[in-house]
Amino acid sequence: MDNCIFCMIASGAIPSTSVFEDDDFKVVFDISPAEKGHLLILPKKHAANVTELDADISAKMLILASKLGQAQMKGLGADGFNIVVNTGEAAGQTVMHCHMHVIPRFKDKGSLISWKQGSYEDGEAAAYAEKIKGAL
Ligand code: AMP
Ligand code: ZN
Repeated sequence: MDNCIFCMIASGAIPSTSVFEDDDFKVVFDISPAEKGHLLILPKKHAANVTELDADISAKMLILASKLGQAQMKGLGADGFNIVVNTGEAAGQTVMHCHMHVIPRFKDKGSLISWKQGSYEDGEAAAYAEKIKGAL
């Protein structure tokens, strides 16, 4: 897609340092990493977000993320990793070409993805469940 930065990176039109590439994906370093070694899995076929991805690409992307996370643990000594897919501006998506973050995490650094923990009133979770089930 014209003017899509991740299409240009995935196709090689813009050079990047890559750790993996096949027919479906290019895996590159995030330019502003949460930790050094933070990877982005870029599907080569443009999709604005995960809801637009072909099912086989979605499935392959998670398998690849797991492999990359394991390589971060083995190769970088990470103690764990986060797999993140922001979907929509409200969820923090800033580049509208679907991508999966794989972020290495280290026990001694303590930086984590976090949110303020909320709670449900009595019966509220069941009401939310009905709304979601009705929309599936
Ligand atoms: P998201 O907020 O999930 O849309 O993430 C977009 C990510 O892309 C951010 O973490 C950016 O740091 C990263 N990013 C933006 N432009 C580039 C680029 N040219 N090369 C590599 N990473 C980029
Ligand atoms: Zn694109």
